[in-house]
Amino acid sequence: MGFCFKTNYHSHSEFCDGTGQLEEYVKADINKGFDAFGFSGHAPRPFKNDGVIQQNNLLSYFDETENWHKSEIETTLECIADNKQILEVNTGVFIDGPSGIFPSAWILQIAKNYDIPIIISSDAHSTDRIDYYFNEAKIMAKNAGYNKLKVFIGDKWIDDEMV
Ligand SMILES: [Zn+2]
Repeated sequence: MGFCFKTNYHSHSEFCDGTGQLEEYVKADINKGFDAFGFSGHAPRPFKNDGVIQQNNLLSYFDETENWHKSEIETTLECIADNKQILEVNTGVFIDGPSGIFPSAWILQIAKNYDIPIIISSDAHSTDRIDYYFNEAKIMAKNAGYNKLKVFIGDKWIDDEMV
């Protein structure tokens, strides 16, 4: 899909809960032609963490169509917009496949209504997922009304216009 830059700022290596060394990610990133690539390691936790959402039981935690959740989403997006922050579209952490892209399409449409800029990241935990479902996420963004992504190239954020 037609953006100029290929970027991913959200990947995990063996330094936290990903697999593979940093150098392996960098090589995969070069092979796939990324313009910018970043790591987002989890902060160290000096205790056993039982608070991690279990992937195989994700839908039992809550239904995102419930009114209380919709209200929280609206409030959160308003706060993001007021503070001129960027929203990450995350393509790969909880559920395999395009249905695992979050935020969901309806949330992305509200984000667009607030004119919140977005980035797309894969949250890769292995080198084979550094551009996991990027095309699907770009289509989802386009369907929500986005015609540009934010990319951090060199030393600044710029708009990557869809061509
Ligand atoms: Zn992550």
